[in-house]
Amino acid sequence: MIYFDHNATTPLDERVLAAMLPFLNRYYGNPSSLYRHGRLVRSAIDAAREQVAALIGVSATQIIFTSGGTEANNLALAIVNPAAKFAISAIEHPSIIESALHLKNQGHELIIMDVDSTGSITQNAINQVIEQHPQLVSMMLANNETGVIQNIACYAEQLKANNILIHTDAVQALGKIPVQFDALNVDLMSLSSHKIYGAKGCGALVVGRDITINPLIYGGGQEQNRRSGTENVAAIVAFGTAAELTNNELTQRSKHHSSLRILLEQRLTSIPKLTIFAEAALRLPNTVLFGIEGIDGEMLVMQLDQKGIAVASGSACASGGNAPSHVLLAMGISPEQAKTAVRVSLGISNTEAEILDFVTTLTGLVG
Ligand code: PLP
Repeated sequence: MIYFDHNATTPLDERVLAAMLPFLNRYYGNPSSLYRHGRLVRSAIDAAREQVAALIGVSATQIIFTSGGTEANNLALAIVNPAAKFAISAIEHPSIIESALHLKNQGHELIIMDVDSTGSITQNAINQVIEQHPQLVSMMLANNETGVIQNIACYAEQLKANNILIHTDAVQALGKIPVQFDALNVDLMSLSSHKIYGAKGCGALVVGRDITINPLIYGGGQEQNRRSGTENVAAIVAFGTAAELTNNELTQRSKHHSSLRILLEQRLTSIPKLTIFAEAALRLPNTVLFGIEGIDGEMLVMQLDQKGIAVASGSACASGGNAPSHVLLAMGISPEQAKTAVRVSLGISNTEAEILDFVTTLTGLVG
């Protein structure tokens, strides 16, 4: 199989698997237990917390381990005070949009920030939000469908100057571009392990030093009373290892992704009526979202699957329905054209030969 769907999930790195396995069999103690078997497990969680913190340049106490990016996003929005205003961009992941709509139903005022035709949040949208003075603004660092990278650092600085809190969903950016919490000027950041070759079901909310969290889950007081529940030890160890590997290998991974993407986009130009969405915007080096006029994206995904190639139509998390992507609609693309969208998201094991194979197969299918 040619696997080109790394924005949906990445395979578990063999080195990560080796690090987590002992915590699925040998070291099964509860990290809250006082005896040695428990303390050993606790120290593995502490080490993983340091590794994740090091990747984004924060201190370990700022990391709250969660069940993934979805929970981290829900936990971030839960800081909004009762009846307070908050804002999100129109292109957020469903774990922000649905959580925001839930808060709206509970009486919060929700502001949706528009994007332009390149999928970028505009200065104008930021100016309008500042005038309305919400408590919190949530803007993703990179979009899972288009790969478009937002100018978070600059916008966050302006929002901060107006005493507005900023959350960024960095789930897709992590491991593909450098992500530094302080340089981005944000107060809260969501991460997910299975997008950086870690295990599924583990992520983190990164919290600014002066931010108080309203827990979603109450219980034994784990994660400094901010997220109770016995820790998913093996997955946390995996996240730590994946973060350390990412830290060491980011430059080389980025170069690899970029060179493959350049090749892919060059070859795609030979296919008639093909558009690369958000082509003019700064994008993640591993992501290409394209559409071919008159060809249904989901249909193409099925046909490619029969040829042993795994790609996505729009966002995998939102799959199941055939609705056009909310991200493309927000960019002003017609529902008809949005339904042509196919996403290729590259990973560290992909090769030039796979890119060439893919383009040949695609040409054969649509030619
Ligand atoms: N945020 C973004 C931008 C994502 O792409 C995803 C998953 O695709 C998530 C959040 C959710 O993360 P998780 O799968 O860890 O819940």
